[in-house]
Amino acid sequence: MLIAQINGRSIAAVDAKKGVQYKCPGCQGELILKKGEFKISHFAHKNSMCQIFSEGETPEHLLGKKSILAAYQKAGYFGKLEEYIKSLQQRPDVLVRLRNEKAIALEFQCAPLNLTKLSERSQGYFQAGLKFCWILGQRYHLKKTLTQQTSQFMQWSQRLGFYLLYFDTTRERFELVYGIQQADFLPLRYFHFFTKNVSELKMFMQQDHQIDYYELTMEERFKQQKNFLRNCYYSAGEFRKIQELAYMSGIRLQDLTAILLKRKYQVPLFQKNEFYWRAKIVLKYNKGVIINQKANIMVLRGINEYLFQNPFIRKKQFVEQIIQDFQADLQLVK
Ligand SMILES: [Zn+2]
Repeated sequence: MLIAQINGRSIAAVDAKKGVQYKCPGCQGELILKKGEFKISHFAHKNSMCQIFSEGETPEHLLGKKSILAAYQKAGYFGKLEEYIKSLQQRPDVLVRLRNEKAIALEFQCAPLNLTKLSERSQGYFQAGLKFCWILGQRYHLKKTLTQQTSQFMQWSQRLGFYLLYFDTTRERFELVYGIQQADFLPLRYFHFFTKNVSELKMFMQQDHQIDYYELTMEERFKQQKNFLRNCYYSAGEFRKIQELAYMSGIRLQDLTAILLKRKYQVPLFQKNEFYWRAKIVLKYNKGVIINQKANIMVLRGINEYLFQNPFIRKKQFVEQIIQDFQADLQLVK
């Protein structure tokens, strides 16, 4: 942490001196000042029982908080580090406000965070009438596939599609990853926007980027097929379960790919390949069942175990589209 209390007043670690007793603004526990030539000055708890300031602080986190605050200040925001909100027992990394607008709690998330905590904290800010924004650190950088850990921070807007916001402390800049889309057995696709400037970032986020979901190219379809066959060969995990189901129905899984593998990228909501969900339904319910209304509800419920949990996204419209697409593909077969 960068801010401590002494005699009821706040003090920044850079201004603090060794040998003085500083207290945690949250739990009032005793703090130690850590200062060194190669270290960012900060405080740490003497006993690590604190619930409010409990996260381990990496250099990335300490540096990021300061840089993010500085970037907002440059854009005319008034801001504070680690402002302890007593009524919430929460402490956003940075709290900023532009003139008379609502204050925004900025969380620079570098450590792992579970879904419950993420939801609780966001809910807290919301109830306190604050806007909030989760800015992600290194560990959340997108790889070939999404994980629940990263996906839970995802947001959606008409203009940007699905997006995540990062701060890169080495380059001192924001990184917006937007238009995120996925296809079965292929790496994710997305766009980047980099900037050091908060006003520029805001402007970019307000523009309509007309996000399209791409058709797979020939090359991608070839790669998808190759990866699918590799799965057939290695036969493990979820894939194996579907393979066994197919085997028992006397169907070769390969023969289902023509109908069940989508030829287009889509919303990045599937935790597992959509193919698994589709194949399971076809094999289990034998195509026709899901066409009627009642069965739709059953299918709707079943889909959830194939999707990520995204506290900031209203998924209903997307799920309905996914089901409609599936039904359309099945109609083609009939
Ligand atoms: Zn504390």
